Amino acid sequence: MEENKTAANFIEAEINKDIANHVYSNDRVLTRFPPEPNGYLHIGHVKSICLNFGIGEKYHGETNVRFDDTNPTKEDVEYVNSILEDVKWLGFKWKEPVHYASDYFPELYEFACKLIRMGLAYVDDQTGQEIHDTRGDLEHPGKESPWRNRSVEENLKLFQEMKEGKYKDGERCLRAKIDMASPNVVMRDPVIYRILHATHHRTGDTWCIYPLYDFAHPLSDALEGITHSICTLEFEERRPLYNWCLQAYEGKEKPRQIEFARLNVTTMITSKRKLRKMVEAGLVSGWDDPRMPTISGIRRRGYTPESLRHFCDLIGVAKADNMVDVSLLEYCIREDLKAKAPRIMAVIDPVKVVLTNYPADKVEYVTMENNPEVEAMGSRQVPFSRNIYIEKEDFMENPVKKFFRMTPGKEVRLKGAYIVKCDEVVKNEDGSIKEIHCTVDFDTRSGTPGADRKVKGTLHWVCADKAVDIDTRLYDYLIPPDDTDDGRDFMEKVNTHSLVVMHSKAEPAILDYKIGDRFQFLRKGYFIIDKDTTEGHIVCNRIVGLRDSWAKIQKKQDKDK
Ligand code: ATP
Ligand code: MG
Repeated sequence: MEENKTAANFIEAEINKDIANHVYSNDRVLTRFPPEPNGYLHIGHVKSICLNFGIGEKYHGETNVRFDDTNPTKEDVEYVNSILEDVKWLGFKWKEPVHYASDYFPELYEFACKLIRMGLAYVDDQTGQEIHDTRGDLEHPGKESPWRNRSVEENLKLFQEMKEGKYKDGERCLRAKIDMASPNVVMRDPVIYRILHATHHRTGDTWCIYPLYDFAHPLSDALEGITHSICTLEFEERRPLYNWCLQAYEGKEKPRQIEFARLNVTTMITSKRKLRKMVEAGLVSGWDDPRMPTISGIRRRGYTPESLRHFCDLIGVAKADNMVDVSLLEYCIREDLKAKAPRIMAVIDPVKVVLTNYPADKVEYVTMENNPEVEAMGSRQVPFSRNIYIEKEDFMENPVKKFFRMTPGKEVRLKGAYIVKCDEVVKNEDGSIKEIHCTVDFDTRSGTPGADRKVKGTLHWVCADKAVDIDTRLYDYLIPPDDTDDGRDFMEKVNTHSLVVMHSKAEPAILDYKIGDRFQFLRKGYFIIDKDTTEGHIVCNRIVGLRDSWAKIQKKQDKDK
């Protein structure tokens, strides 16, 4: 028997009540995650998965995965496979086997016949348009169909003929006989079965009538013994229909629908339909483009399952729709990688520096910690020589106020190595910088007593002779963070300049990493090695930047100008 646990949210409070009242045998809890296999899962689904599986885990219950595959024209096995992979990757285990609403097509057909026999369903000959037009609206009741009062026998015969393929798509349908004057428009004799001569990805051509979601869902829940059927807020007004359909089910224990608010995240589109549009229009490279808010995109971008689960814990479960700032998600991945990701150095946008007083043929090795916060991660040897690279943006010929990086006549520290002084800038004919000449103060090597001398800036760098060429992909948001509903279609808002590929230089330690490994490029953010990496060509995705205090100052300076 389940003991009452402290409820973390209103859904758990409801579950606790059911446990206290022994509503379900052995006070069992069985939830389900019911995706429609018509696209790849997105960040919103992460919340639903964490919620359903989280409750399963907390209450020593279980969670089913059930594909709501009642819409054969839009569904595909590709999506089924990706969805299962996503759930697994998040670290959850469903109760075997995987379920499909299509497994229940025979039972659902029988349930429909039962409703007919109970006088609660009828075959309507009206067209979809006529049904739509006679539904009424919030002010006006609907109009009853002329076919509403057919006899049970006639309905059974027609419904069977529908199943046998005697009619064309849309020629007839089965409707629930509820109340055309109901104040809840959902209850005005909703269609529960339609004719559709389409091949289903699992049942092939066995069926040419398909149940609608509102009918299939509660009864599938009931057949599986689901206790708490958790769904998003837009289903609230359909709860009476959910319960109405359960009249066809004779079992004692009936599932209960509980609604919660959808997750919305700034910069992220949470609609499979819209995401598919972006993929089909080629605005992104695919469903798993690292900019996409799909689970597969987020995974490829480099997020960890732990960071997503932590994110869901932090946002909690609400009853009112809300918008979560994407920076919270970014906070979660930084938090997770802080102690997990080793640090190495890479120069994203390199400019060459010649250390003119350093011997040309010498390479020395300096020791650097792999993660200053985790001693156990040890240290490594990093090559240092006369020619190095630094970031273009770490040099300013005519520095603005508070610029403490490299600038003519001034000193900076090269991380883990020496203090160097910038003497000269050598230009190309077009005025661009060819190289920067510096001199090393040999008494200041890190780890020696002379290293105590303080200078304001510390730069990362890469030894030019030993550098590994890599591509780094830097991302911007697909939708701007301050987006408001200005009437434009989302496709017009998509930032087509949201990917920049840089030819960068990394220290040789990068060769120790493989596809899927994450690390921090010092000062530049967390990165992951992308699957596009081939022998001799490393591609890194920036997962997230580090908080950049300079960017803040710069912004403020720009404002003050
Ligand atoms: P989409 O509009 O993207 O297709 P959906 O709700 O139609 O979303 P389903 O495949 O039917 O997608 O969803 C599976 C489960 O995930 C449902 O229980 C649904 O309520 C939930 N879900 C979908 N989007 C969100 C979201 N943004 N926040 C929380 N849960 C969501
Ligand atoms: Mg949907």
